[in-house]
Amino acid sequence: NKQVIFKQFVEGFPKESDMAVKTSSISLKVEEGSNAVVVKNLYLSCDPRMRFRMKHSKDPGFVSFQPSSPLEGFGVAKVVDSGYPEFKKGDLVWGTVGWEEYSVIKNPESIFKIHHTDDVPLSYYTGILGMPGLTAWAGFYEVCAPKEGEYVYISAASGAVGQLVGQFAKLMGCYVVGSAGSKEKVEILKNKLGFDDAFNYKEEHDLDAALKRCFPEGIDIYFDNVGGRMLDAVLLNMRVQGRIAVCGMISQYNLGQPEGVCNLMNIVYKRIHMIGFIVFDYFPQYSKFLEVVLPLIREEKIVYLEDIAEGLENAPAALVGLFNGRNIGKQVVVVARE
Ligand code: NDP
Repeated sequence: NKQVIFKQFVEGFPKESDMAVKTSSISLKVEEGSNAVVVKNLYLSCDPRMRFRMKHSKDPGFVSFQPSSPLEGFGVAKVVDSGYPEFKKGDLVWGTVGWEEYSVIKNPESIFKIHHTDDVPLSYYTGILGMPGLTAWAGFYEVCAPKEGEYVYISAASGAVGQLVGQFAKLMGCYVVGSAGSKEKVEILKNKLGFDDAFNYKEEHDLDAALKRCFPEGIDIYFDNVGGRMLDAVLLNMRVQGRIAVCGMISQYNLGQPEGVCNLMNIVYKRIHMIGFIVFDYFPQYSKFLEVVLPLIREEKIVYLEDIAEGLENAPAALVGLFNGRNIGKQVVVVARE
């Protein structure tokens, strides 16, 4: 059983050398009387939140990765053997699995059956039809409370979550601008994903000026994926009664000392609603979400960009790449295709 092992707790930026690919043995049979499920992993999802589990925490409610054990994350898998009545051999599932060829899932409530339809790629259950898709859907429609014609800004806009928020906002009739970290990503936002405008934040030394250029009348909705300096500049450019959905702050995850945000008084001046949210609160709405998003994919009203890394050997580099913007779209690792 080939595995991506977590070697040591991480400070600063994660490196490929914080992980190692090793082989161990595994029984593919569920023990008599156990309700565990053995799965063959097909697609693994690289998610920024995995960085949190790479740090050592004394908080009892927080489960760090264990040194010398495989990493864990969302994935798509096929059931090989099951002691849990809801799953049988051959079923396709998505949920939390190990970064390895085969996993023993001791808590089968953490995986969900996929009623896969052949007209959508199975890997989509790591992205648009999985956790990042639900994040974009709940974050935009529920947290941002959008209205037609509003001015919407999204950071990390070409990523797993951002690309969907932008397309949902366009379907809603909003004016949508995204930022990303390369010229190529900016072109994709404008030409493939239908954003009205986009800019490369790495080439703008004055973020406030860049936002004023893109939003002369100000921003109604900011979907924040990055935090830090960008959030500070956005606060200066929000409109009265604007909404900020705080989805994540990836610019802060690897800093020892988080960056101070100086412009928070704007929340008062402009009566801004700034709301943090966590996708797990919306898991009960997953089937409602699928009813909305599956037709959008089938009717080609929405597209989804994936960045595919082949094989577990390439998984550490793919994960580390999230923190320097190497990925274009949802970062997936293919372990096996069936
Ligand atoms: P992405 O696919 O967008 O990958 C991460 C991207 O972040 C990179 O490609 C890079 O793009 C950008 N980035 C990396 N470092 C920085 C930096 N220092 N400053 C600005 N941008 C940076 O990831 P996801 O779409 O999966 O996640 C996006 C955000 O949503 C993250 O903050 C994540 O933690 C959060 N999240 C929150 C959830 C919730 O429940 N609240 C659930 C899922 C995700 P670029 O080239 O543009 O720099």
